[in-house]
Amino acid sequence: MKDILIIGAGGVGSVVAHKCAMLGDTFGKITLASRTKSKCDAIAESVKSRVGKEIATAAIDADDVAATVALLREVKPFLLINVALPYQDLSLMDACLEAGVHYLDTANYEPPNEAKFEYHWQWAYQEKFANTGLCALLGSGFDPGTTNVFTAYVLKHHFDEIHYLDIVDVNGGDHGKAFATNFNPEINIREVTAPCRHWQKDKFVETPAMSRHQPFTCPEEVGTFEIYRMYHEELESLTKHIPTLRKAQFWMSFSQNYLKHLEVLQNVGMTSITPIEYNGQSIVPLQFLKAVLPDPGDLGKSTQGRTCIGCIVRGVKDGQDKAIYIYNICNHEDCFEEVGSQAISYTTGVPAMIGAKMLVEGHWLKPGVWNMEQNDPDPFMDDLNKHGLPWEIVELPVGETGFED
Ligand code: NDP
Repeated sequence: MKDILIIGAGGVGSVVAHKCAMLGDTFGKITLASRTKSKCDAIAESVKSRVGKEIATAAIDADDVAATVALLREVKPFLLINVALPYQDLSLMDACLEAGVHYLDTANYEPPNEAKFEYHWQWAYQEKFANTGLCALLGSGFDPGTTNVFTAYVLKHHFDEIHYLDIVDVNGGDHGKAFATNFNPEINIREVTAPCRHWQKDKFVETPAMSRHQPFTCPEEVGTFEIYRMYHEELESLTKHIPTLRKAQFWMSFSQNYLKHLEVLQNVGMTSITPIEYNGQSIVPLQFLKAVLPDPGDLGKSTQGRTCIGCIVRGVKDGQDKAIYIYNICNHEDCFEEVGSQAISYTTGVPAMIGAKMLVEGHWLKPGVWNMEQNDPDPFMDDLNKHGLPWEIVELPVGETGFED
């Protein structure tokens, strides 16, 4: 049993706090710290009433390395779970190195003034973590995270070599709002408005944002949705660690309503990250937009429907071509009932808890900086089934997957 410090009291932080609190044999004292302490206190109250466990709370500016080191020295956790924003990744990794604490996050570093998320900044910490005997586990959410583990699992158990990977993230839920994002609006809008990149042959190919789309029918009557090809960070680590991949793409569903609102917001400059002067004050339009949009952490009570996220993998086994679809379906209302959150926060927070469990129990604990697919997928896959994200695996007829070579 080990003590943990969770940083970030948003939609995901709330799920991580609830799910870790449910595992009293794995996690000892839990401290939740964030910029706004009142949000930590509200989550602590919910954890107490739903799970019956007291968790400690604290205020922290995670951009301030010295303050975070002081908090780590006071709390003395085994592991820091970073579910603040991607901007905080490097300062929190620095603080962990100084205080001698293991590190986990769910999204790769992104500089605040440039919408560009890449792993090289965090991979550059490899030697520092290895030399201090500390472990940093990167991207332990659903996508990235579980999608990486799904890919590693099918490679281990169902293929000799994999060649084509299509990751499909469908949110078939409806929150009933005119426009809202399912996780932090600033990060979400930066991600979906960025140019698309997919892996082809031996390099990333760039195409305009949202320029490629097609229908996708989910299993178990979740429905048929239009999915749009976009760049997503797990493509970078998976194509590095699985060099047999010839093509790797990421697809996400968007409703016409979401796209219409996004287009208007883009056209009028509201998604810009370049600061402007307003009434003698410098403001970033996208940050102002985030302030007026619904808080994703509050969407749970109005969201209905299901998510369906998975990987369609094609390759060879015993000299034969083969295609596999591995996926999870998650119901928004069930998540709300269990922890008071919608399924996007839930599908991110549960894998963050399981990633933490993999480190606490020692399955994945090794010095250095690691992506999810670099670990044995089996114990993580077992825990998905036990802790709220059961998965299914089906063999598809080769040539009828709906995705091109
Ligand atoms: P929210 O915006 O709901 O929550 C972010 C939290 O971080 C807020 O509590 C915020 O504080 C806090 N925070 C921001 N800056 C600082 C800072 N400098 N110091 C301390 N705390 C800070 O985001 P989500 O919960 O939706 O997302 C959390 C993370 O999860 C993001 O990095 C996101 O990219 C990632 N994610 C990953 C997914 C995956 O599948 N891998 C999917 C979805 C999200 P305050 O309340 O004061 O604003």
